[in-house]
Amino acid sequence: MIGLISATAAGAAARDRLAAAWPQRTRVYDGPVGDAVRRAFSECEQLVCFLATGAVVRLVAPLLEDKSADPGVVCVDEGGRFAVSLVGGHGGGANELAVEVGELLGADPVVTTATDSVGIPGLDTLGFPLEGDVAAVTRAVLDGEPVALDTEVAWPLPPLPLAAQGAYTVRLTDRAVEPGAQEVLLRPPSLVVGVGASKGAPVEEVLELIHGALQDAGLSPRSLAELATVDAKAGEPGILDAARRLGVPLVTYSADELAGIDVPNPSDAPLAAVGTPSVAEAAALVRGGELLVPKRKSAGQPAMATCAVVRRPARGRLAVVGLGPGARDLLTPRAKAELRRASVLVGLDQYVDQIRDLLRPGTRILESGLGAEEERARTAVAEARKGQAVALIGSGDAGVYAMASPALAEASDDIDVVGVPGVTAALAAAAILGAPLGHDHVSISLSDLHTPWEVIERRVRAAAEADIVVTFYNPRSRGRDWQLPKALAILAEHREPTTPVGVVRNASRPDGTARVTTLTDLDPATVDMMTVVTVGNTATRDIAGRMVTPRGYRWQESASKSGSAAGQEEPK
Ligand code: SAH
Repeated sequence: MIGLISATAAGAAARDRLAAAWPQRTRVYDGPVGDAVRRAFSECEQLVCFLATGAVVRLVAPLLEDKSADPGVVCVDEGGRFAVSLVGGHGGGANELAVEVGELLGADPVVTTATDSVGIPGLDTLGFPLEGDVAAVTRAVLDGEPVALDTEVAWPLPPLPLAAQGAYTVRLTDRAVEPGAQEVLLRPPSLVVGVGASKGAPVEEVLELIHGALQDAGLSPRSLAELATVDAKAGEPGILDAARRLGVPLVTYSADELAGIDVPNPSDAPLAAVGTPSVAEAAALVRGGELLVPKRKSAGQPAMATCAVVRRPARGRLAVVGLGPGARDLLTPRAKAELRRASVLVGLDQYVDQIRDLLRPGTRILESGLGAEEERARTAVAEARKGQAVALIGSGDAGVYAMASPALAEASDDIDVVGVPGVTAALAAAAILGAPLGHDHVSISLSDLHTPWEVIERRVRAAAEADIVVTFYNPRSRGRDWQLPKALAILAEHREPTTPVGVVRNASRPDGTARVTTLTDLDPATVDMMTVVTVGNTATRDIAGRMVTPRGYRWQESASKSGSAAGQEEPK
């Protein structure tokens, strides 16, 4: 719960906007401000105070105990211009809250925690349990001292500015080791314990079995990701309780699925009871991995539980990210987030330059020149398969005449793939030209590098005959100059010579140009590889210098009949 406290009328107005936007998450504390802050501090995980920072410092100072337990506190000034993360930046989530509140109120978030202000993720924000001297190692990272990353287990991590060697170490391990001096252990969620149990198996017996198995194998319980068992045991109290006490989810699989898993120690007892020759080993191995502890039985007489431990393979992540046409404010927030999340960035050098400043320090950049597309796709997939978080970038939308298809053609189902759409050139150009895409439209690439000209010509002809608006990508290059005139000639067989044609070069970039001309007047020499050419259909008009394709006669009629064009904008 977020406690909201205000003193003035302006503060109350901003407070009410927040309360209305987040009715479930917030609670308003009325009454004298001092009391309100004290009550909220003891009752809420977070506070937003519409008060001066000085006032809030004085009020919360006597209440502060420990940064892992104290609520996060955000202050918003009287003018609503700033949302200041005051205390509990990481542990209390105040940094994130300041950003959220800022977005909602139109205020600038103010974050002064060192790691956030320099764009390095705090070790405590990685989402993994930590052990060791977190403060000292974080300070070393910030001070630019060499900090070594020692990955015993491959696991996707956000980029950290870490080296191969250094006086300080961040060690990614699921083994039961103690942190050394100047060392932090990060515990990846890499271990799965498969559990089988007879009806009524006591939770103590199950827990003792699991702890014993992990201990004997030298594994840390803090790397435990989940317990796994067969569907028939989904309600078995001893297993449910064990999962709850270990703080991990219980996942279950059907007996059929488990019966299909190859295991070293099948037996007849579970086959008769639940229909699979293995529960513990099979359930732990369903999603692949390395069997570290084969099936073992609990100490009870008779033994009522079995377990097996598997180290599951890290799933890498491949984000295919469209950067938009060029302008920074046409790069989506989601694209930005993916770029900052990646530990490896793969792309064409000129696109990398476009977003280099957004990457976190430590991001490994694999850039290459024009033409190396398949190699880029292969590299990106190979890095993801190693367990990395990879961003593969492309201009516009990365799925439009770009990297998404060659990359996904290489990718197997052992990695996660995320696509982030981008503003493709046709849309960026259309917004500049007016409304040329108001009715059916296609994009056609005139590059015959990978497509035979006959195929391209057939598609241009089909668009011409069907009276569809066409946007040409890759319209003309130094070595490829006859295709555009040829394509325009085909369209001219079905469209008036006065049909509007939009030519947009470097849409949304500083040196961008755009003009609306006609099928006859277009001078192909003004077109190059930085250009898209949009040819209207037979209804497209040049209206006040803007290219407008009507949405269709029927729509226009019904709009005029109802007397309200605006009301008809989105047909049912
Ligand atoms: N994935 C890109 C297209 C790559 S093909 C996208 O979705 O936009 C390359 C072609 O895209 C160029 O030859 C040009 O025709 C077009 N293009 C890309 N960016 C452009 C821009 N900013 N302005 C005009 N055309 C552009």
